[in-house]
Amino acid sequence: MPAALSALLDALYPPRCLVCTQALPSMQPSLCSRHGFDPLEQGPVCPRCAAPKSPHLPAAVACAACRKKPPRFQRTLKLGGYHSAAPLRDWILGLKHGGRRDLAAPLGAALGRLLEAEPQEWRDSALLVPVPLHPLRRLERGYDQALLLARAVAREQGLPCLAALKRQRHTVPQGSPGPGSRLANVQGAFGLRRRARVLRDRPVWLVDDVLTTGATASECARVLMRGGAARVGLLVVARASRRV
Ligand SMILES: [Zn+2]
Ligand SMILES: [Zn+2]
Repeated sequence: MPAALSALLDALYPPRCLVCTQALPSMQPSLCSRHGFDPLEQGPVCPRCAAPKSPHLPAAVACAACRKKPPRFQRTLKLGGYHSAAPLRDWILGLKHGGRRDLAAPLGAALGRLLEAEPQEWRDSALLVPVPLHPLRRLERGYDQALLLARAVAREQGLPCLAALKRQRHTVPQGSPGPGSRLANVQGAFGLRRRARVLRDRPVWLVDDVLTTGATASECARVLMRGGAARVGLLVVARASRRV
């Protein structure tokens, strides 16, 4: 295409940010400076739960909360933090509540790149498993964002995705109760589907959009380990901030 024509097209139809639809200068990638994945907030984080931790702790040492009461998952990878000012909030609100299922693909691609830096024991024959959505939520949203994310990561990384977990009883939606009651609330809430036999001896990455207390993810990890998974890690778009 001649340069003049492409400049004219850009003026008429400027490329827009995928998330906020802000017009972008010509030849830009499809994300504005606020919604790009790079650089996202990164300080020292706990290898187990990805919560910010004291910079004085060695990299391999878990945060105080995980040392006191380790969750059943052994590793957490996140794109960034989730709070009112964080760019990822717009992504997650769009994906969860804005009907923007198309945002799962770019998020999944970015999550997949995090996996690439993991050691072999976490990558070889790894399986991606979404945290199952509450059926009522699925009904009101029309899609399951964790499943869309897990599939997007799987596609990007050439790994299998399996909805190995199911909700087996009604739980009160998370959000109001404190961490203790959250744990009691999710105990026994998940079970394995019959085809979950393929879990055996494989590393499993549980996929979800936001990690809050970790109670749900920990319970899912417990069920997956009982089902034979070699190890369970957590792959999330964002982690809600926790005081350290
Ligand atoms: Zn934007
Ligand atoms: Zn931790």
